[in-house]
Amino acid sequence: MSLNDLSFPHRHLLGIEGLSPQEIGLILDLSDSYVQTNRQREKKLATLRGRTLINLFFETSTRTRISFELAGKRLGADVINISVASSSIKKGETLIDTAMTLNAMQPDVLAIRHGDSGAVKLLSEKVDCAVVNAGDGSHEHPTQALLDALTIRRRKGRLQGLTVAICGDVRHSRVARSNIYLLNAVGARVRVVAPPTLLPSAIERLGVEVFHDMRRGLDGCDIVMMLRLQRERMQGTFVPSVREYFHFWGLDYAKLAYAKPDALIMHPGPMNRGVEIDSVLADDIDRSVIREQVEMGVAVRMACLDLLTRAPGEARNRPASAEAGRLRSGEGR
Ligand code: ASP
Repeated sequence: MSLNDLSFPHRHLLGIEGLSPQEIGLILDLSDSYVQTNRQREKKLATLRGRTLINLFFETSTRTRISFELAGKRLGADVINISVASSSIKKGETLIDTAMTLNAMQPDVLAIRHGDSGAVKLLSEKVDCAVVNAGDGSHEHPTQALLDALTIRRRKGRLQGLTVAICGDVRHSRVARSNIYLLNAVGARVRVVAPPTLLPSAIERLGVEVFHDMRRGLDGCDIVMMLRLQRERMQGTFVPSVREYFHFWGLDYAKLAYAKPDALIMHPGPMNRGVEIDSVLADDIDRSVIREQVEMGVAVRMACLDLLTRAPGEARNRPASAEAGRLRSGEGR
């Protein structure tokens, strides 16, 4: 199957769980093409001309919301943003009513973020259009995992066989969960590195190795993925103090020295400098690919919007990208 005749066999993108390695690979291949589009002076395509994307965000967001907006606009769609974080809309009937109201306006795609795990799936069952999960509670954030995978694949030339350490507040992290599903599906080895209080129970069942010590957890790994302490999801005290947390769990040069010399540092953002990551290290362009992750996010979201709006069997011209194959084989950034 080539990129041109790929039709995505799913109506929605609600999570990485359930995607095959081939489907993940094809999304990444198409995303590679869109990276090239986004680096051109003229970035606007007509792929989604006449289509409407609504971004419905019940939680705050900078990167993801703007990234979906840019992705939609660069593909030529009309894009509407609705931020309801500060409104009185919560859940249950009202949430469904909101989705039904938007549905009546005939959008083609809804990108939804919600604070409750499962809320996006619930809404996807009520509407006629495609739904992309832009993060639901501590459940999944599929486009984040895809952009992380794209960043790694372009830098390392592969995903299979790499050792990835996901460190910090795994318990509250939808990013961690989506990454675990994706990395396992493509044959990477996944470690989670965190104090027991910040790990969900039975995390080993997701196919990860568990470490309660940063040095041992980072030993020999290819990728160090840091997570934010998600205090907004915490009820009670999970860490004694921020200072102590940084001492034991914050990534600095001394702890990074245990990873492979060419290990890459990632963070989904927003970063808490001096809490989970040393500020200088976060900006070290020889080690940190945090800004590149943001760039990849737009391309991945373009690929997802493109695939979800294709009619079954519809072929679309792949965006010009002689570079994509070269980059996939790890020759460049
Ligand atoms: N931006 C990511 C998310 O929405 C990670 C984070 O907030 O820490 O899950």
